Amino acid sequence: MKHLDYISEMPSEWASTGRRSVYLTFDDGPNPFFTPQILDVLAQNRVPATFFVIGTYAVEHPDLIQRMIAEGHEVGNHTMTHPDLCKCGFGEVRREIFEANGAIMMACPQASVRFIRAPYGAWSEEVFTASEIAGLAALHWSVDPRDWSRPGTDAIVDAVVASVRPGAIVLLHDGCPPDELRLSTQARLRDQTAKALSQLIPALNACGYEIRALPQHH
Ligand SMILES: [Zn+2]
Repeated sequence: MKHLDYISEMPSEWASTGRRSVYLTFDDGPNPFFTPQILDVLAQNRVPATFFVIGTYAVEHPDLIQRMIAEGHEVGNHTMTHPDLCKCGFGEVRREIFEANGAIMMACPQASVRFIRAPYGAWSEEVFTASEIAGLAALHWSVDPRDWSRPGTDAIVDAVVASVRPGAIVLLHDGCPPDELRLSTQARLRDQTAKALSQLIPALNACGYEIRALPQHH
């Protein structure tokens, strides 16, 4: 039996080409307040990113999915309702993944969904199998500055710069999961992420990194 696994870092071209690539990913959107801020910073810096969107939010904000695609970004699958898939049966796992794909395609028929990221990074054999049936590659991350915990914009930038290496996949957030939205705490705010991003892009460039779109063949 084939062993399925996730990608947490792209094979580095550093040795052969001298190119230091890094990949930015944003989870848990689209959010009507924070996603446009992130898209504005990416546009100002002409930098591509991948957005792992929640299906129910894609249904509510198709304009933001359309804007992501129109501005050259990639949209990935982050399930329909953001459950912990390790606690779901196979039928539910499959439904969460397929419904999110449908929601993205409905919001923007031009979107071609290639990747899935499990909520909370909670992968299982069932998730890998259902993802493969849906034609999606599992994409994790290698750099996590915990921007959602609002440690301060400098702390977010420093955490990424300290642990980045060629081929790294950086995890950031442009929204928050539905269960967290119901809580009236500051933790749901993603205000530091956009601010950190406007410092992070030049900081990565200064270290010789080029922020790139995920490769076509992985
Ligand atoms: Zn998430």
